[in-house]
Amino acid sequence: MLGKIVIANRGEIALRILRACRELGIQAVAVHSDADRDLKHVRLADESVCIGPPPSKDSYLNVPAIISAAEVTDSVAIHPGYGFLSENADFAERVMESGFIFIGPKPETIRIMGDKVAAIEAMKKAGVPCVPGSDGPLGDDKEENLRIAKKIGYPIIIKASGGGGGRGMRVVHTEAALLSSITMTQTEAGAAFGNSVVYMEKFLENPRHIEFQVLADKHGNAIHLGERDCSTQRRHQKVVEEAPAPGITPEQRAFMGERCAKACTDIGYEGAGTFEFLYENGEFYFIEMNTRVQVEHPVTEMITGVDIVKEQLRIAAGETLSVSQDEIEFRGHAVECRLNAEDSKTFLPSPGKITNLHVPGGPGVRVETHIYNGYVVPPYYDSMIGKLVTHGEDRECAIARMRTALNELVIEGIRCNTELLQDIISDSAFQAGSQNIHYLEKKLGL
Ligand code: ADP
Repeated sequence: MLGKIVIANRGEIALRILRACRELGIQAVAVHSDADRDLKHVRLADESVCIGPPPSKDSYLNVPAIISAAEVTDSVAIHPGYGFLSENADFAERVMESGFIFIGPKPETIRIMGDKVAAIEAMKKAGVPCVPGSDGPLGDDKEENLRIAKKIGYPIIIKASGGGGGRGMRVVHTEAALLSSITMTQTEAGAAFGNSVVYMEKFLENPRHIEFQVLADKHGNAIHLGERDCSTQRRHQKVVEEAPAPGITPEQRAFMGERCAKACTDIGYEGAGTFEFLYENGEFYFIEMNTRVQVEHPVTEMITGVDIVKEQLRIAAGETLSVSQDEIEFRGHAVECRLNAEDSKTFLPSPGKITNLHVPGGPGVRVETHIYNGYVVPPYYDSMIGKLVTHGEDRECAIARMRTALNELVIEGIRCNTELLQDIISDSAFQAGSQNIHYLEKKLGL
């Protein structure tokens, strides 16, 4: 096993990784900004190193500081968590060149998956279904571009190959708007991502967001842990997630899951990963792969019993996966609500001191959070302060437990989006299941 690792992240995921290290007997080093001295995992870690001032670009994105923290503490590996440097191929490369293990896939894999045109090409080759589209980047030939769009059928979406975070996309409804939209998206993409390559896809009008979790080791073994439904989103940000996805049959799960696992073997994938799909009219369409642990990984853990973070650590240490596909059983249903320090109605961030905190409990309730009584939520980072996860024998039970847990939750001193989450969980449309990606924004009247 790994001797000592650096956790290059903050908040709940840093604490989650620390707990996994504890279970595996791995020593953990917390690296933190000046603003994060009081983070729970910093207090609990074996060692901690301050890597810079509060702004992320000077601390959690400060590559030399993170690598020197690994050097001075005699660590052997670096876990990037999610966000920050987790999908930065150059960082992964620097980590490896400096003699450390990067807990994630190889830099070249991260690079391919970070380039949407390359990712789609790799997936098509591996037999993963993709959105009907332009088969690669759009060229300068106007007639050709008009012909491609006509063949796909309007509406279409123009997407930047280097885009991310829901940016660099433009929907086109008519032929008249096509050519100018291509030029505009190319210009914007060049400015925003330093890469003006764009491609074209069929625009799906009412899809669901369904993603498959995979694990692959360095010995050619790859498995899938089923799917999650993350359709409840606002501005492309997931708010509530669940597993399994309502209405997906065991046959669909096995078929798609096996495709994803096979794609991992084909591309030499190593680590935990997620294949994201849009799902419409019974068909899955690949949109992107995330080459890291995801915020919503606990719902999969709850229904499979597999500890995804421990698997990441084992894989990085060169061990084989601790479970085989045949051993994976899906039990019950799990729901996750993201707790954000923000107003339920205006969505304005609400940093500040937590003056009173009571966390829920009871059967099937899991709380992933770094906050505690007296903790001050700093204004510099993402507003997510934790996750509430419930598990039950079926979806109804998981939802009932979530309703009770949200009612039990007390967070005072700052605003939290609890009321919004209660509204969603109690909404008959959510309870019916199979909501699409427009559900929440429509409900909010956006
Ligand atoms: P990003 O990397 O910026 O998150 P994605 O490719 O994952 O970009 O797409 C983000 C979101 O944009 C999707 O979740 C979906 O809501 C929308 N989207 C992307 N491609 C399509 C498409 N072909 N049809 C409809 N919506 C799409």
